[in-house]
Amino acid sequence: MSARLDEKLDLIYRDVLHRNPGEEEFHQAVQEVLETLGPVMSKYPEFVDRKVIQRICEPERQIIFRVPWQDDNGEFHINRAFRVEFNSALGPYKGGMRFHPSVYLGIIKFLGFEQIFKNALSNMPIGGGKGGSDFDPKGKSDDEVMRFCQSLMTELYRHLGENTDVPAGDIGVGKREIGYLFGQYKRITNRYESGVLTGKGLDWGGILARNEATGYGLVYFVDEMLKAKKDSLDGKTVVVSGSGNVAIYAIEKATQLGAKVIACSDSSGVIVDEEGIDLDLLKQLKEVERRRLSAYTDTRTHAKYSENGDIWSVACDVALPCATQNELNGKDAKKLVENGVVVVAEGANMPTTPEAARIFAEAGIAFGPGKAANAGGVATSALEMQQNASRDCWTFEHTESRLHQIMVDIHKSAFETADEFGSPGNYVVGANIAGFLKVARAMDAMGLV
Ligand code: NDP
Repeated sequence: MSARLDEKLDLIYRDVLHRNPGEEEFHQAVQEVLETLGPVMSKYPEFVDRKVIQRICEPERQIIFRVPWQDDNGEFHINRAFRVEFNSALGPYKGGMRFHPSVYLGIIKFLGFEQIFKNALSNMPIGGGKGGSDFDPKGKSDDEVMRFCQSLMTELYRHLGENTDVPAGDIGVGKREIGYLFGQYKRITNRYESGVLTGKGLDWGGILARNEATGYGLVYFVDEMLKAKKDSLDGKTVVVSGSGNVAIYAIEKATQLGAKVIACSDSSGVIVDEEGIDLDLLKQLKEVERRRLSAYTDTRTHAKYSENGDIWSVACDVALPCATQNELNGKDAKKLVENGVVVVAEGANMPTTPEAARIFAEAGIAFGPGKAANAGGVATSALEMQQNASRDCWTFEHTESRLHQIMVDIHKSAFETADEFGSPGNYVVGANIAGFLKVARAMDAMGLV
């Protein structure tokens, strides 16, 4: 139970715990939002009376299904897949699919819940949803991944549609998986419905800059956070956890804006390269060869690799957690503060534990929560849907400049809302309230649905 919730919100939270047993990550995500909504409830009591928060906490629909598939040796495997269609007040359900052995309903619900507010903040006409499977793509052949994706889509297709539910990628789901999923959707439905999936390949409906969007958007957001402190990224030392899609393009944009990124990681270890991470090498290892990060030192022999290393002990001005949930805890936060960190912003979803977020707040560190800071990915997915609907093909520059403006606007909205509700500089409060109000108003306008 949280000491930071007033009586009404505490009752709502207890009900969420009771109705969703064992779903710790979902509880954490709900608690983090409810803790910031006290001032909203006082200002808009009608949302309390009409149980808007309780409705937001209950997904509109949850789909759980079996995915049988066969490996290259002919052996049968059974995985479980999920699609949680959380909230469609602002548009079709929108959110990625995650393939990782840790996936269960509680992870997908936390991600789907966050997605509602993130998508609202992006100011795009998209609702919130999320999906995934406990399938582990690591070590699988392309054919095995294809058979798995085809089997998954053979069930999922009936729930999708460009005006209904539009999945994309997340951990373990990139262009390759989206290709297999789209191919099977097209085959079953006999429809070339480009807008039914985003993150597509550039030759068949994908949008330039989607691959870069989450990482680039994160760094644009950090740039705005620094500008608000009359500072800039130029000359800053940056540490980025992860070495997947979000991490790679955060490293790229931070470097373009004059920062030096000295460390990144994967689930096995940490690389520290004091001369600055060699991005071409990183892309080759991770995007082309799909190898472990440890291979980095084969080429960059001066760099240091530490197995199970502690990335948050590397001193930096800007820390960007871009790997996974709860990867930065209270101890890590203390170390970052001691080492003089100025800005922390979440590229991953909920990578910072509540204790760590409190330590940053108490130390006056600017902290950008994922639902604002990593919204560039889904916003660009919504741009991909626009491009598909207009049967057009946009340039990289066009999409990147839209992305940049979207991130500037999200920052402004979170910053100003925090001010308006009495927590200047607190982006968690600002992002939660701004996102909540947009969804709550739309839900309220549509009656009891
Ligand atoms: P990728 O699969 O491309 O990369 C994930 C990275 O995180 C890999 O380096 C992976 O290492 C590491 N990682 C994953 N799980 C763990 C773990 N349990 N412990 C340590 N490291 C881990 O995923 P993305 O870059 O797409 O996603 C990263 C985060 O960003 C996720 O939280 C995702 O939800 C969020 N996000 C992604 C968006 C996107 O557009 N892709 C949009 C918004 C948010 P390894 O290879 O060893 O597993």
